[in-house]
Amino acid sequence: MISSGHPRYDADRVSRVGGHAVVVGASMAGLLAGRVLADAFRTVTIIDRDPLPDEAVARPSVPQADHVHVMLEPGRVILEDLFPGYGEELLSSGGLGIDNATDLEYYQRGEFLAEGPNRLPMYCASRPLFERIVRRRLAERDDVTLRAECQFTAYDFDGSASRIEGVRIANSDGCNETLAADVVVDATGRTSRTPAWLERHHYAPPVEEEVTVDLAYSTLVLERPSADRHGVMIVPSPPDTRGGTAIPVEDDRWIVTLFGLHGDHPPTDAAGIERFARRLPTPEIHRLLETHEWVSDDVRQYPFPSSRRRRYEDLHRFPDGLLVIGDAIASFNPIYGQGMSVAALEAIQLHHALADGGLADLASRFFDRVGDVVDTVWRMAVGADFEFADTTGPKPLGTDLLNRYLARVIETAQTDAHVSDRFARVLRLEEPPPTLFAPSVLWRVLAPTEVGRRVR
Ligand SMILES: Cc1cc2nc3c(=O)[nH]c(=O)nc-3n(C[C@H](O)[C@H](O)[C@H](O)COP(=O)(O)OP(=O)(O)OC[C@H]3O[C@@H](n4cnc5c(N)ncnc54)[C@H](O)[C@@H]3O)c2cc1C
Repeated sequence: MISSGHPRYDADRVSRVGGHAVVVGASMAGLLAGRVLADAFRTVTIIDRDPLPDEAVARPSVPQADHVHVMLEPGRVILEDLFPGYGEELLSSGGLGIDNATDLEYYQRGEFLAEGPNRLPMYCASRPLFERIVRRRLAERDDVTLRAECQFTAYDFDGSASRIEGVRIANSDGCNETLAADVVVDATGRTSRTPAWLERHHYAPPVEEEVTVDLAYSTLVLERPSADRHGVMIVPSPPDTRGGTAIPVEDDRWIVTLFGLHGDHPPTDAAGIERFARRLPTPEIHRLLETHEWVSDDVRQYPFPSSRRRRYEDLHRFPDGLLVIGDAIASFNPIYGQGMSVAALEAIQLHHALADGGLADLASRFFDRVGDVVDTVWRMAVGADFEFADTTGPKPLGTDLLNRYLARVIETAQTDAHVSDRFARVLRLEEPPPTLFAPSVLWRVLAPTEVGRRVR
């Protein structure tokens, strides 16, 4: 993975390093952090301000959960490693196991990619279902406590603010409480208050990079015949700024998300959705909307102004006992479907950081590891965003050159099954981008004629 370059989870590598760990935020990043902390601490408490019901429902503080959530390969593999039987449970709860190579049609640069020769397994489900199974598995453990409707209000720290010693919380009954902890993990997402806390306590906050895409999602749910397991992904290429996706999920539904970049936002009324879909570069999603019953009464919208990355790995001073994970470190343009998988990869980095050195200098070792993971994914995501002239923000070095090569990779992948397979593996975060420069890909992509494309 980006996946293949990283050592897998290995419970035997970790020994007990502390008594109590607290995770703030019980969304995907927080739950996965809580799972790996449970190997190293006697008890783990995961708090969230939302109710945490047993059902698969979207929570108020995770409004993106109404929208398509694609689970890429690192997420699939790591969830199974951390929760053996996760896949079976997802399928028995109605989720689907599809073949990314044949069931998911992927359109970019004017054409669909060729069907790849190898099976590429992928789970499809609504975001609440993905999360509910993780939450349920953690709730079954004696060493993990999930505390719902519990608002994190402040870090508790020593006199010099050199060490975080716990968190202060406000319960739903209005009572305030302090939870002491050896380690606190901030998994509160994109609006994390850790940078402000650092600044207030005379630490340098992490440098923040922001790449604006002015994106909006509009999402609705369609009825799906049970036997029809196909999905569609239409990725915009300039000058087109709009795309969409239809993903099969539980209860014989498709979740359909339309999106537009740089202000070309999809509307939220039925007639507007129909018009927007009709002007997508290929008619598959419009056809689905015309021929299948709409289940949802309304269309949910989610604006996403910018991708944002906080460079914790560059900080020279950081309080002991505090870590940050998930969207609180980096939140990526969601059209590439990377967030949950990056959260999973980060949780595995936490696992290995704990295994390699326990609590000693944990934050800096963890952030170093996470920086490498985020770097690769960030370059892929914002690199693609910079294909659009209106994208603004710090552009990673070499982006334009790489984009020119990737354009040729994609065009080759439209007719060449081998290149299509290799490209899909990079998109799925299964293989790192340099694999697209392997000789078997390079010569097919750079071959001036059809000859290179025909060779298998
Ligand atoms: C529109 C959209 C579509 C997406 N699509 C995909 C996709 O296809 N595939 C994919 O892998 N990822 C996708 N993502 C990204 C994905 O949703 C996140 O990366 C993922 O949820 C991990 O985020 P997180 O756990 O770090 O933070 P969040 O999901 O934002 O959760 C933060 C949690 O912290 C809690 N919290 C915050 N403040 C407090 C407080 N003060 N006290 C207590 N609790 C608090 C919140 O209640 C919440 O539960 C998408 C994102 C968006 C916006």
